[in-house]
Amino acid sequence: MTPMAGAYEQLLDATIQHLEDLKSRGVRHVSVLPETLRALAQPISVPAPPAKLSSQSSISAPVAEQETLLTLPGERPPTQSPPLDPQAKAAAFAALRERALACVKCPHLASSRKNVVFGVGSIDAQLMFIGEAPGADEDEQGEPFVGKAGQLLTKIIQATGLQRADVYIGNILKCRPDTPGQSSGNRKPTTDEMATCIPYLHEQIDLIRPKVIVALGATAVEGLLGKTIGITKLRGTWKTYRGIPLMPTYHPAYLLRNQAMSEKRKVWEDMLQVMEKLGMPISEKQRRFFLKG
Ligand code: URA
Repeated sequence: MTPMAGAYEQLLDATIQHLEDLKSRGVRHVSVLPETLRALAQPISVPAPPAKLSSQSSISAPVAEQETLLTLPGERPPTQSPPLDPQAKAAAFAALRERALACVKCPHLASSRKNVVFGVGSIDAQLMFIGEAPGADEDEQGEPFVGKAGQLLTKIIQATGLQRADVYIGNILKCRPDTPGQSSGNRKPTTDEMATCIPYLHEQIDLIRPKVIVALGATAVEGLLGKTIGITKLRGTWKTYRGIPLMPTYHPAYLLRNQAMSEKRKVWEDMLQVMEKLGMPISEKQRRFFLKG
């Protein structure tokens, strides 16, 4: 290999490494200037390299590109690719599902899980619910929110006039958090587990493109937005996630633990805001749910 070709290989490796790093941080889009694209389309003639090419810092991208390369997970990149046609979208979603089902990035979870719980519902949904992680029932059945908390979530969805099949339901983590040495019980996903798994969720969101996301509970909010203020303060206030309005609310499991009417009403008020945002019809009866008298 000539020295120049070696340098070119190094540059290519560094670029691939950089893109892999971005991908692992959840970045899904990189905008490239038209002139760069034109240059990339040229047959490869080994470019004259700068003197040293061994580190990423030696790759200089135009300013506009650098800005996009720094896009962090959770932020919608400034330019969004046009939506896929229905067939391509279904194919991309199926391919993503296959990848997630075969995932072994967390070896401890891959070996303890019964099923990868990818997500369920319509890939054209306007409304997406995101929970924390599968529990024992979900692990057993391979579907999110099918246990007691899930049944309550289904009731909440139905109270809006929608069915489970109209929305999309997913979790931050696609495997049940393991509990070595315990035959039952759940644990909160670790920060590392969430960071490892969330790129799948990003791809799901970017393909589905829901109009509204509902984050269920503190861990879901933490996984999506980072550790912010507590769910009690956060719920009921609109946030933005990847350019999409996001409503944090209590996890249905919390409502099962705390049966107070006032807490149910809070979740319902959050759902009324979601319905309003989606332009859904709201009846007087719906407006009065969980109000006394
Ligand atoms: N709790 C969650 O957060 N997700 C599920 O899928 C089930 C229970």
